[in-house]
Amino acid sequence: MNNYWGAHTSIQGGVTASIPLAEKLGFLAMQIFTKNNNRWFAPPLKEEDAAKFKEELKKTGIKFVMAHDSYLINLGAPSDEMFNKSVDAMVDELQRCEVLGIPQLNFHPGAHLGEGEEFGVRRIASALDIIHDRTADFKVKSMIELTAGQGSAIGYKFEHARDIISLVREPERMSVCIDTAHIFAAGYDIKDPEKYETVILDFDRIIGLDRLQAFHFNDSKKPLGSRVDRHENIGDGFIGLEGFRNLLNDKRLLHIPKILETPKVKNNSKTLKISQDSEA
Ligand code: ZN
Ligand code: MN
Ligand code: MN
Repeated sequence: MNNYWGAHTSIQGGVTASIPLAEKLGFLAMQIFTKNNNRWFAPPLKEEDAAKFKEELKKTGIKFVMAHDSYLINLGAPSDEMFNKSVDAMVDELQRCEVLGIPQLNFHPGAHLGEGEEFGVRRIASALDIIHDRTADFKVKSMIELTAGQGSAIGYKFEHARDIISLVREPERMSVCIDTAHIFAAGYDIKDPEKYETVILDFDRIIGLDRLQAFHFNDSKKPLGSRVDRHENIGDGFIGLEGFRNLLNDKRLLHIPKILETPKVKNNSKTLKISQDSEA
């Protein structure tokens, strides 16, 4: 099997509008938002729009689609009001994925906002239990995105994902996404070939490589361990081509879809509107 690639793709004009764009760019994988990512809720998807999405997708070479949740959601929120609103919003996101036939909803685990990491991990797991109860029998998985650990964000250590997965009642509904910029900023050195090997072995030991079901491929504008989340074009950041070489030559990771979330590409000859509504 070959590496399969794609990018976060704009849904301007509706979810189905992403498909010809991804197809034109030769993507075998893509990520979309299923609604405006800066809004809590959106009107439900119409059945005919969802049917159209699935039908159009079948005609393409795109093998894998994942969705990214809204940036507003915080499943670790200490306040009940914010927690409940986040739970409702994530249920809505999962419903949208389910009608679109999207198998993975990538979400940022959440931030504890000063209550501590143990609180955050438990709060997120309890949110997921409520969410999964309200979406019983759904096929779409809840995919934890590992984070840079900016502010009080949970998910910058492999142990956080392990603990959340081990606390939830339905761990079979959980998967994990490595964002390369995030884990590098979190302190995982994927640039140095020897340290890279340790990072992958640690992931396998702590979380398990079978849980790893997508990558966000982004270089990092900020150095190793900076805990700051700033995406850079591949090769132009602190991870550099060396780091991505480690990943792309790793046979253990060949089958895992790799999604670019790098900044919009602009050069003199052309402007690619790939990530118009992105940067996740
Ligand atoms: Zn993200
Ligand atoms: Mn990401
Ligand atoms: Mn990011």
